[in-house]
Amino acid sequence: MSTLIERPESEEMDVESSDLSNDSAVQVITEETTLEENPEAVLVDGVDVDALHERLEVEREPKKQLSQNAMERQEILAYFSPDRLAWKNVDWIVAGWMIAMHVGALIAPFYFTWQAFGVAVVLHWLTCSIGICLAYHRCLSHRSLRLKWPAKVVATFFGVIAGEGGPLRWTATHRVHHGQSDQEGDPHSPLEDAWWSHLWWMMLNHPKRKDELLFKHYVPDLTKDKTLVFFEKTFPLWLWGTGLTLLYFGGLPMLLWGLCVRVVLAYHSTWLVNSATHLWGYRNYETTDASRNLWWVAVAAYGEGWHNNHHAHPRLARAGHKWWELDPTWWAISFLRLIGQAVDVDDRIPEPSKS
Ligand SMILES: [Zn+2]
Ligand SMILES: [Zn+2]
Repeated sequence: MSTLIERPESEEMDVESSDLSNDSAVQVITEETTLEENPEAVLVDGVDVDALHERLEVEREPKKQLSQNAMERQEILAYFSPDRLAWKNVDWIVAGWMIAMHVGALIAPFYFTWQAFGVAVVLHWLTCSIGICLAYHRCLSHRSLRLKWPAKVVATFFGVIAGEGGPLRWTATHRVHHGQSDQEGDPHSPLEDAWWSHLWWMMLNHPKRKDELLFKHYVPDLTKDKTLVFFEKTFPLWLWGTGLTLLYFGGLPMLLWGLCVRVVLAYHSTWLVNSATHLWGYRNYETTDASRNLWWVAVAAYGEGWHNNHHAHPRLARAGHKWWELDPTWWAISFLRLIGQAVDVDDRIPEPSKS
């Protein structure tokens, strides 16, 4: 499998630059630069979150001894390599869970009830838009807003029962994606292989050392948060608890629709953000990755399909930058801000430059 990916041609695209220069600048971390050196860094919880998105140049045969920091980050990127995809490295719990959820979703139509369908729709919105898009992605990964208690606990809980893993590993992996996007070390670039980016990358197991290094280098701001650490350690219990609660109160129809159908649809809409929006669609901004804006993924993923906008300006709370780029997750953020539960919301929209 290829290791280095060519950057996309920007000439063919209808692109704009913008005035929010600090968001889109890609800085390469080398031996000489460290995360602490940027004097203009905006610190969140004492950490320069923008620096966590910076690219690490992978050096296969370094000409000089790398620092401990650089060696550990190279080691992290190697854990995400498609070259690791082999039977001995498969996470069978994840693979078994995925198969079970898809089988459950396939037999769900034979157990259809309107009540179960309604619960699935509401839980889909709560877990996918509020849990994953708002809490895990915009709040935790990019610190585009802060949530107050109890919204923080409730929204993170919905992220946990979305079945996409704990908040720390999800956030750290996503920050790696922004740093290495469509380059070597990207956990899920479709330029390697479309199905790899959609699905197979998740089948790799997680050695203890990988998580230790990943958390140390990519989520140093979040590992101090006791609530997030608690959810990270206990997330399978909450997921199983949700399934058992649905089964207890609504029987098999509620389990199949409220869990299986709901998570499978949410999975594929999240995965399409990793695969389809790095392949198809239009670009508002020139970026160093292949990100695109794709309307039907935006519909399926509550606004996250405006992915070129997001890669160009990852710290902004809004994913839709044109009036017609509808962003339901932004509507939820606006509501939470109105009732005082969302604060420090970065609600800027880039102005296209005159050039
Ligand atoms: Zn992306
Ligand atoms: Zn992101």
